[in-house]
Formats: sequence, structure tokens, C-alpha cells
Amino acid sequence: TTAPSTLPINGHFASIGDHDDPLVYEHGVQVIDEAKQFNPNLSKYLSLEHVSNAGFNYHLISVFGSQSTGKSTLLNHLFGTQFSVMSDQERRQTTKGIWLSKNKMQAQGGDNGSHMAENILVMDVEGTDGRERGEDQDFERKSALFALATSEVLIVNIWEHQVGLYQGANMGLLKTVLEVNLQLFLKDRSTTHRSLLFFVIRDFMGTTPLRNLQRTLLEDLSRIWTSLSKPPGLESSTIHDYFDFAFYGLPHKGYQPDQFVADVRTLGKRFREGKKDPRRDAVLGESLETGIFLPEYHRRIPADGFAHYAEGIWDQIVNNKDLDLPTQQELLAQFRCDEILREVLVAFDEVIIPFEEKQAEGIHSGEPLVLGGLGPAMRSARSKTIQSFETEASRYHKGVYRRKRAELEDKIDTRLKTLFQGQLNAAHRLGVKDFTEAVTAAVSIGQKKSSGYDFAEIVTSETKAAIEKFEKEAHAVLVEGAPWSNYKQELALYQKDLGEVSGQLRRDEMRRLATRVERWVRSRLSESVGFEFNALGSGRGGSGAPESGEKPSEGRIWDRIWKLFVDTVLDAERRFTDRASSLDAGVDEVDVGLWRLRRKSWGVLRARIEEEVMEGNLLLKLRENFEDKFRYDDAGVPRIWRPTDDIEGIYTRARESTLTLIPLLSRFRLAETSAPPPLERWIGHTPSSATPADEEDLPPIGGLDEDDGRGLDEEVRVLSDAKRQDLTVRFKKAADGVYVEAKRSAIGGITQ
Ligand code: GDP
Ligand code: MG
Repeated sequence: TTAPSTLPINGHFASIGDHDDPLVYEHGVQVIDEAKQFNPNLSKYLSLEHVSNAGFNYHLISVFGSQSTGKSTLLNHLFGTQFSVMSDQERRQTTKGIWLSKNKMQAQGGDNGSHMAENILVMDVEGTDGRERGEDQDFERKSALFALATSEVLIVNIWEHQVGLYQGANMGLLKTVLEVNLQLFLKDRSTTHRSLLFFVIRDFMGTTPLRNLQRTLLEDLSRIWTSLSKPPGLESSTIHDYFDFAFYGLPHKGYQPDQFVADVRTLGKRFREGKKDPRRDAVLGESLETGIFLPEYHRRIPADGFAHYAEGIWDQIVNNKDLDLPTQQELLAQFRCDEILREVLVAFDEVIIPFEEKQAEGIHSGEPLVLGGLGPAMRSARSKTIQSFETEASRYHKGVYRRKRAELEDKIDTRLKTLFQGQLNAAHRLGVKDFTEAVTAAVSIGQKKSSGYDFAEIVTSETKAAIEKFEKEAHAVLVEGAPWSNYKQELALYQKDLGEVSGQLRRDEMRRLATRVERWVRSRLSESVGFEFNALGSGRGGSGAPESGEKPSEGRIWDRIWKLFVDTVLDAERRFTDRASSLDAGVDEVDVGLWRLRRKSWGVLRARIEEEVMEGNLLLKLRENFEDKFRYDDAGVPRIWRPTDDIEGIYTRARESTLTLIPLLSRFRLAETSAPPPLERWIGHTPSSATPADEEDLPPIGGLDEDDGRGLDEEVRVLSDAKRQDLTVRFKKAADGVYVEAKRSAIGGITQ
């Protein structure tokens, strides 16, 4: 269906498929071919002619008339087109189907051009009453319908001698035009579009004034109109409800060639340079000053949708369907809005996809990435995309346009929202990470400073900095007008997470504090408990200062240990509480910490005591205790054994005295009550705020922790019965040894 294949003119033949070559369209484009096929390259042609982006700023003129009445010749002269014309030698039909070409004549008006009609498109419609198509009225009807549905102006080309010949072929054509026009309005009553029927009377002699010819033609038309059966509701309509009329006479091209050319030029000027908004009456008059394209003639199909619209219309016509222009316009709107939507998304993608890819990379690698330049890119991409869609698509059916615009906004907003949230997410994760590092660093610097540091202060200032940074990043990616452009929730979540992190850091810090205090307790107890046990070795009692004169009773060793233990822990508790307050710890947290400290301290004490009573250690202490009592007198002077001494008596007293220590040391009991220390009362209730994690690393205490199965008795037992027995036997053996030695030395002293 390519144009030149039927046109052996001027020697130009383009290869099939070479549709981008402007030369292919030298003679215009064959919109409908002789087989009634629509040419899919129409839209390409309009692009090549730079009409597609003209919006509504274009005009369409169709020419009608009998075969070989010089229609193509007229158009070529008027518009500089190159529609093929019959050669005077061959005289056979040349124009087949419907051809379209853009006006090639330049407007020559001297003014600024604002009055010039731009982008005039001309359709050359095959005349059908000639010899070659015989009685085929079908194509005539269809092409008339097609022309009326699309064109603003219909040039009716007619010989002067045919005017008034009511039976003439022309009248058949006019009847068809009026009929199909009514058909159009069946479905399209709301639009009030009009058309201009522009009669060009050919071989106009001038003997009958144009005015008379005009009257005759109008009378004929009215008669035809009256004879037509009108659809319901349109019975009383007149021909003037739908048509304006204009008339122009042209002299014989062959006989008055100069006059013909001059008059055609005048007519052409009127088409190309007429004023845009003349009064309709003026069109009916003879003033050549008036322009012919009235706004109400325009079919309001944007230029970029024209090809698709025309194809849809033709499809309906050729398949004998009732032509429903409003529906066609809606379908066109859907088609074009979809196309425009895809087009604007291409530009959108170009800007946005790189960001999406970078962000996906960040997520994939697990390293959140705050994308630079995202905010400006999103803002400009969104507004540009919507703006260009609006510019192109708003010319189409309003309802469809609004729906598609909402669809477009939804599409891009879904993606922008994902980017936005991805960015906030990255800012969130990086922010939390930075915050953690900053607080940790500040604490470790603080730990090295002698003045110490205020944890709560560090957290407060770092939190402030972290939130400021987050808000700055979030603010940078706000897009005004986008429904998702708000980060309130994300900010709240961020603040909550910072709170959790600082809570965790504070708990860690509390743990470290607890560990430090425990270590302090351990070293204090290690020293003081050791001192008490070492004192046993002297046989003259424990921790009391010797110069006080008062001999600390061995029997009260546990009382002393308990007291120093309680004092130590109290001291530690004070240290803990002081430091915890600078950590901004809550009352509950401090309670739990102190409770844990007491329980752990008790464990420390127990372990320390166990160390002291380890077999060898205790036996050594008992032996020292005994030897001290046996070898020294009450004044602390070493005895020199003489045979007269009551070695046996002293030995027995000393041994019995030391032996009393074994049951005493077996259990941690206070002398006053001869009961275990008030461990339960001293440790206190488990605070209700203690979590399982708080209790997890605490060894059970007999008598306090029911699930342990051990009673308080067992908790305070220092030596088992078996150990006690064994210790007793071994001690006695050792004491016996000391006694024998003393005895021997006493005798030896005499023999010497
Ligand atoms: P179309 O079939 O209506 O497009 O007619 P063409 O433009 O192909 O012309 C048909 C024939 O009429 C050609 O031989 C032209 O030379 C001739 N012709 C063109 N203009 C005029 C005119 O003004 N008067 C007459 N009598 N013949 C013309
Ligand atoms: Mg022709």
C-alpha cells in the first residue's frame, strides 16, 4: 500500500518499507488505498511533516467532487501539493482512495504571522461517479463519512454548468454528505461541531453572477435536506445548524490560465492567511479578508492522536458499524494517554533507575547507602513527568485523562516512595550505627579522664546530633505534593531505636560498673578474711589490734567476718549507687543492681572462706594455733620445757582449746544467736523488676532459692562432717607429734 507503487510520476520509486524517507511522501500519503485499507504510516508521515506535536494547531480540509473535475489540480495550485493529476493525453482516473498532504505554500502575509493558519492538511478524495468505479456508491458514502468525521472544511468542486441540474451526479454526492452528517450526530448530539461547505465553481464564466449560483445551490441543498428523514429529535433542524457555506468561482484553467492562476492565488491566501476568528456572516459574504477556519469546525483531536483516531474511525466505517465519535474519542484518549504515559516514564526511568539500582545494591550488600542527590532528582523527575504528561494528555478526553494521570502518579509515587523509604531506612541504620560508635567512643575517652564522665550527658548530646542528622537527610528527600512525603513516623521510630540503643549501652555500662564494684569487694574481702584466718594461727585471736589489750575471741570469728563483710558491701553499695545515678539509671535498675551485688558478694565471701579452709591451709592454721597455745605462756613468752613441767596438762588444754575451733569453723554462725547470719533478710527480696537475664548468672543460695534444694544450713556449712573428722584426726596426729617433741626436749634438756 505504499504510495509511489501506484505513481509512476517524476520517476521516483521508493523501496517498500523505506517509510522514513521524506521522498516517499512526495505526493503525500495514501491514507486509504483502493482496497479500502488504512495506511499504518500516516502517523509517521505526520511526524516527518512536523505536525504531530502541534496539539490542536492544525487544520484539515477535504475536497469532494465528481471524477476528473480538476480537484487534484485545484489542490496542487492552492496548497503546493503534488497530488497526481490526470494527464491531458491519457484521461484516466489517477486519484485512488484518499490521499493526504501537508500544505507546502508559505504564507506571504506581511504581518507578524499570528493570523496565519499553520499546519494545513489537505485530503484529496477519490471521485466515484466516474467511469472506472461504475455504480460503486459504497466508497463514496464511506469516504464522505470519513471526511466529515475528520475535516473542518469540505471543498465541493463543481462545474458551473452542473449548478441547478438537480439530477446531476453532484446532487447525489451532496445528498450523501448531508445524510452521513446526520448519521454522525445520532451518537454525538452533545457536540455542536459544524463544518464549512466551500463550493468552488469551476469554469466559472461570470455571465451568471456568483450570487445567483450561490442561491440556486442553497435552494437545492435545502430541498435535499427537507427530503431526508431525520433521526428522532432532529426533525426540525435546518441545514444551517450543521453547515456554513462559502462560494467561489474559478475561471477555466485552459482558456483563462492567467486569470485562473491569479484567482487561485487569492483563494489560497484566504485559506492560509485569513484571520482566525471572523464572524460567520462574513464567511457567507464575499470579503476575501476573512479567514475560514472557525474554532467550532475543529474536531478537537490532538495532532499526535490524529492518525490513530482516523484509523479507528475508518475501521468503524469500513465495517459498517454505527459511527460513535464520543466513544472513538474516548478510545483514542485511552490509547494515547497510555502511549504518553509510557513515553514520560522513559524519561522518568532514565533519572530514577540509577538511584533504584544503587539503593538495591546497598540493600543487597547489607551496607545501607544514603544516596547523594536523590532529593533534587526525585523532585525534578516527579514534576517533569507529571508536567509533560499534563501537556500532552490533557488535550484528550477529560475523564480518561484524569484517570490516567492518577494512574501515572500512582506508578511514579510507588517507586519514589520506595526510594524515599529506602533512603530513610539507610539514614536510620547508619544513624544508629554512628550513634552507637559515638557514645562508645565518648565513654572510652571519659574512662581515661581523671575527672570521669557523665554518661547521661553523652547520650543526650549524641542523641541530639543523631536526630539532627537524620532530619536533615529526611528533609532533603521530601517531594512537595507527593502523598508519601512525610517522615514523622520514621522519625519517631528512629528516636525509639536510639532510645533502645542508649538503654542497651547504659545497661552495658551498668554491668561494667557492677563488675568493677564486685572486683573491689573481692579484693577487700580477700584481704580482710585472710587476715581473720591468719589471726587464728596466732592462737590469741583475730583482728583486734594487739595494743588494745583486749584479746579478740576466737569464738567470735564469724561475727567479725560477717560485720566486715556487711560493712564492705555497704561501702560497695554506696559506690554503685553514686555511679549509677550519673548513668541515669532508674530506681528499679539500681535496686536490681544492689540486689545482684549483695548476692554476688556473698558468693565471693563463700569462695574466699572455702579457700581458707582448704585442707592443707586449715590444718596448718590449727597446728599453728595449737603450737602457739602450747609453746607460749600467757604472757607470750616461749616455754623452755623442764621435766617438772606439766607438759601433759598444757598439751591437753592447748589441744582441746584448738579442737574447739573445728566445730566453730565448720559452720558460719554468729556467736550471739548461734544461728547463721540473717542472710535472707540482708539480701532482701528479689526486686520485682529483676528479669530472668538478671538472675541467670547468679549461683543459687541455699535457703533462699527454693529450687536449689539446699537449706540455709548447708549454705553456711563450711566443713562437711567427713572433712571435720578427717581434720580432727590429722590435727591430733600433728599435735601429738609436737607433744612428743616437747617431751623429748624436756628430757634432753636434763640429760644435757
Ligand atoms: P480530478 O480527478 O478531479 O482530481 O481531476 P484532475 O485534477 O486529475 O484533472 C482532470 C482533468 O481536468 C485534467 O486533464 C486537467 O488538465 C483538467 N483540468 C484541470 N483544471 C481544469 C479546469 O479548470 N477546467 C477544465 N475544463 N479542465 C481542467
Ligand atoms: Mg484527482
